[in-house]
Amino acid sequence: MVSRVIPVDPFDLVIFGGTGDLAQRKILPGLFRRFRAGQMGGDARVIGAARSDMDADAYRDFARKAVMEFEPEAAKDTEHLDSFLQQLDYVTIDARGNAGWSELTGMLRDDEIRAFYFSVAPSLFGDLADRLHKHGLDCPNCRIVVEKPFGRDLQTAKALNATIAEYFDEQQIYRIDHYLGKETVQNLMAIRFGNTLFEPLWNSQYVDHIQITVAEEVGVGGRGDYYDRSGAMRDMMQNHIMQLLCLIAMEPPAKFDPDAVRDEKLKVIRALDPVAPEDAVRGQYEGTGQSGSYRNEVGNRDSTTESFVALRATISNWRWAGTPFYLRTGKRLRERASEIAVVFKDAPHSIFGADAGRHRNILTIKLQPNEGIELGVTIKEPGPGGMRLVDVPLDMTFAEALGPEEADFPDAYERLIMDVIRGNQTLFMRGDEVEAAWAWIDPIIALWEESDRPPLTYATGSSGPDDALMLMHRDGRRWREIRA
Ligand code: NAP
Repeated sequence: MVSRVIPVDPFDLVIFGGTGDLAQRKILPGLFRRFRAGQMGGDARVIGAARSDMDADAYRDFARKAVMEFEPEAAKDTEHLDSFLQQLDYVTIDARGNAGWSELTGMLRDDEIRAFYFSVAPSLFGDLADRLHKHGLDCPNCRIVVEKPFGRDLQTAKALNATIAEYFDEQQIYRIDHYLGKETVQNLMAIRFGNTLFEPLWNSQYVDHIQITVAEEVGVGGRGDYYDRSGAMRDMMQNHIMQLLCLIAMEPPAKFDPDAVRDEKLKVIRALDPVAPEDAVRGQYEGTGQSGSYRNEVGNRDSTTESFVALRATISNWRWAGTPFYLRTGKRLRERASEIAVVFKDAPHSIFGADAGRHRNILTIKLQPNEGIELGVTIKEPGPGGMRLVDVPLDMTFAEALGPEEADFPDAYERLIMDVIRGNQTLFMRGDEVEAAWAWIDPIIALWEESDRPPLTYATGSSGPDDALMLMHRDGRRWREIRA
């Protein structure tokens, strides 16, 4: 298959926080990959902006190291890397001060697409918006990219939306949830709305339940401070898992256009029922021997922050009444594995008798470590001996189906940055979506905060607290095993 990379228009991209972790690990390597693929042209410019004092050459050296470390192909293609680095510039700027802003103004071109990536702590988002306005940089055609976390509850998210809205229209605001940039997540929409096969079955008449798991093997690592103020509910459930839930559960939009898609996602969030206390399980990992405990890792012996959460969610609408959604995410679990499993109901009647056992079709959308889609179907076990049934996967690992070249798809961040330049908001969260998600999550967190019960403990390397297993056992169901 021939690769179909369409170059984007020339742009000026300013990365506030251009020396930070995200810029090093994702943004700069991602831009290099788009440059190498021919999507970012020679007329695009990327300007790193942070308080650190350095000139353009020093920033290029800094970016070279980052790209070499996080994009293995860079070392083999120094010609492209050198050209890419020539398109980088740097300005020393303080989001809370006046230094550097006129220099930045002088660097920007008037007639090109202009994007400002807020890759800094959320407490600086308001300052940046203010300063951009004060220096006349909030032009009608410019875009801002806002990182998560977007608030820590409904109130703070509303305040943040209001601050940004003072200077930017909703059409200019790109709230990133990188899960939406994953190839498989978009394939979820292609599978649902590009085939006739699944959509007629996509409802409570045929779907028994849906499981969404985002399991991490690692602990909080160097993010202990941030994580302890946030927890799994705010860090993962309110954004990433909520977005996956929306795409799985939404009605077909009339067209694949930003507001049509986001309207449908919003309807899902608004149709979510409040979660009953017994349907929300929170946990915290406890290590044995060499492996650390959550409280040690974050340096807070009394922490009651959850590193694991499991919820049983229900949606009150015609499509999903009667089909529960089981959602779970956590750190220091058995393996790193993220997937959505759509578990269909048993065949209404088995003509093969009780001995044939219980067989179910399961559509699994795998997000990590390897992206792909698998459909479990029941067939006859080959060989003599009568009609024995067995479940086998119809596997659609992209690399195998499309060939390695086509399956070398962009990482979520680089795809989303190109969408910003193209002005396509489909894969970005709208302000009302974010607020609705907090409105659903906040009461669950409030309940925990009011309670004097600490999170349940679970062993490092396990599947989470036993109560999370009970959440499903109670309903006569069980979680799929966490496996990569
Ligand atoms: P980080 O490593 O702490 O970097 C912060 C950046 O902001 C640095 O470049 C810093 O450079 C700059 N900065 C700090 N204060 C500033 C000021 N007053 N004016 C201008 N620049 C300032 O943080 P990060 O991990 O890159 O995260 C950036 C954002 O992305 C955060 O909102 C985070 O929540 C979000 N995020 C990060 C990740 C990730 O994997 N890292 C994932 C998802 C979301 P100077 O000190 O030189 O100013």
